[in-house]
Amino acid sequence: MFLTLSILLPPARLSAEENLLKPLGEAFAAWTGGRPDDAIGSLEYVIFRSSDTVLTLAAIKEISVLLSEQGKNREALAYLARAEILAPEDPYIAFEKGWNLLSLENHLDARASFEKALTLTGETDISNQARFGLALAEAHLGGPAAATESIQTVYSKYPYLLSPAAQLISAQYEKLKNRQHAITFLNEALNYDPRNIQAEIDLARLYEKSDYYLPAWQAYYTLSELDPEDGYFSGKAAGLASHIAGKLENLLYWTRMSWPVHVKPVDYSDKNLVRVGLFSDNGGSPTLLTEFSFIANSAFTITDSRLGAVGGGKASMQWNVRYDPMSKIYEIRDSMGSVVHSTRNSFRLTPKVKGGVILIKSPVITADKGVNRGDREVAGELNIIVRDNGFRVVNSVALESLVPSIVTSLASGNKQLQALKALAVVVRSNLMRLKSGSARNDPDYDFCDSQHCLPFPGLQVENEAALSAAGQTRGEILTKNGVPVDVHFHSACGGFTAEGIDDNGRAQTRMTPFNLYYTTLKAPRDDLFCLAEDRTQSSDVLWTLMLRTKWIENRVNRIARIGYIRSMTVLKRSPGGRVLSLRIDGTAGGTTLEGFDAVSRALAGGLLRSPLFTLRPVSEGKYPGYFLLRGIGTGDGHGYCILGGRGMAKDLGSAYTAILRHYFPDHKILKIP
Ligand SMILES: [Zn+2]
Ligand SMILES: [Zn+2]
Repeated sequence: MFLTLSILLPPARLSAEENLLKPLGEAFAAWTGGRPDDAIGSLEYVIFRSSDTVLTLAAIKEISVLLSEQGKNREALAYLARAEILAPEDPYIAFEKGWNLLSLENHLDARASFEKALTLTGETDISNQARFGLALAEAHLGGPAAATESIQTVYSKYPYLLSPAAQLISAQYEKLKNRQHAITFLNEALNYDPRNIQAEIDLARLYEKSDYYLPAWQAYYTLSELDPEDGYFSGKAAGLASHIAGKLENLLYWTRMSWPVHVKPVDYSDKNLVRVGLFSDNGGSPTLLTEFSFIANSAFTITDSRLGAVGGGKASMQWNVRYDPMSKIYEIRDSMGSVVHSTRNSFRLTPKVKGGVILIKSPVITADKGVNRGDREVAGELNIIVRDNGFRVVNSVALESLVPSIVTSLASGNKQLQALKALAVVVRSNLMRLKSGSARNDPDYDFCDSQHCLPFPGLQVENEAALSAAGQTRGEILTKNGVPVDVHFHSACGGFTAEGIDDNGRAQTRMTPFNLYYTTLKAPRDDLFCLAEDRTQSSDVLWTLMLRTKWIENRVNRIARIGYIRSMTVLKRSPGGRVLSLRIDGTAGGTTLEGFDAVSRALAGGLLRSPLFTLRPVSEGKYPGYFLLRGIGTGDGHGYCILGGRGMAKDLGSAYTAILRHYFPDHKILKIP
């Protein structure tokens, strides 16, 4: 308890205020413990009883964050008014007043408060955040021109608000009926933050309004893929499809390959075979196919599960596998279209040369949403497992040969060898866990190729750097006391991993409502490990979203009847501040979302970057029109920080062993026997 207050007060003052240690500690415990109202109550008590200016101010900064999040902006403003008397020169008080006034749609006073904050500080982060707020207020006061002018400095000078700034500029152009510019800036918003789902939704709408059928269809289709249960987006996509000529599947972002990238067999050994269920949905089940074509880069054999070897083909010829729903027969045709084998049994395709690669082309998938429909290359064997009305495709393959392509796709362009080696060990450890955890009920496969287990894009993506990284760490996994361990990874922790590993984050003695909120307003430290190489691409590390309430309502009302959203309140947080549960209250009822996946799906169709965020409602009339989310990092923060490993390799010259020791101090690297 002593530690808690010592954050806020110099030691000399402690004795006088010691009776307030307890309620303050209780407030912070209630904040993470899922009792925000108790936290507010305890802070009220501290403010009421405190005779120390420093403590009072600190407690007001804490309580205003909690009240603002709940949309109790008037109460927050009452406290902030008191704080302003105690500290008239404190820029943060003026700044925070601005946001609360903005939330209440009092744009005139919000503008004055943001302007005041700007006169009180020259500090980069708070100044730019204030300009951002000012522009949001100006949009209602001075109109599009004034708003664009206010945001201009932010947009050209401050890399950490680029995506929302571009969105704001786009909205001004839309008001001016300049749809072309509005579209350009929404594309910019997505370029700076590809996970800005609101920008994607707005882009779809603008394309449609402008009669740009193809991009409108692509955008709505993308949204419906993210959120397969959303009827609105798939309805829009279906409606637009009739305006478009050409085969729709080929107009999307699915990988289409005419020829295998691997023209020669790959390095391959038959050890540690695993069975990957290909074309799996997000729930982890392999979906049914009715057809695909394939080209093998070596000769191959066809083995019928009942009849044994029934033939085969040569390298570099395009063959076809098809299920005929009329006869309920599965056919394999050669490059001339002649039926080579027809069967009602499962069968498999096996390259005759070790390491031979099969390219699967143009899969026809019966599920219409939520599956990677891209072409892909696989090594090992391809099992076609018959089912009613189609077949499953399962790849039996050496675990090791999956590592380079998965590492390549997770590293997203990073070529730092030591970082890739560390990632290869992490990926291999993951694959080992998936293999040994395959005590699932399905006898057909061990794990799937979707986000549910570990996305496997196909061998065609692997690059040289990842191949060397995998080769140089061949067989190495992480263990504890000699036993393989379950290791996690994420894109960027933004400062501290969930296990508390310090990537040179902004250190906090203790995470409190204000400390967390303030951290989301500040640029990351220059020596943060998981920093973007290009600062304009920093949204992995620090992000801001403006999410319109109506889309959140649409998603949440599918799982619970809540009506119109009145408020969203974070209940539980981890000690590091990560959201564990979220309460949503509406006109027709309320619901509590548990866990990051549920929260991410409800707020952002599954695209929310991380659970480390704060939120603020902004009213439009009676209810919140949108929510402002400010967050840190990408992923759940557990285990290995992928961008952090790159930073350590590049800036510190760390070897992969040192990188792994940093993130997994208790684990040892062992070679699989
Ligand atoms: Zn799975
Ligand atoms: Zn990190």
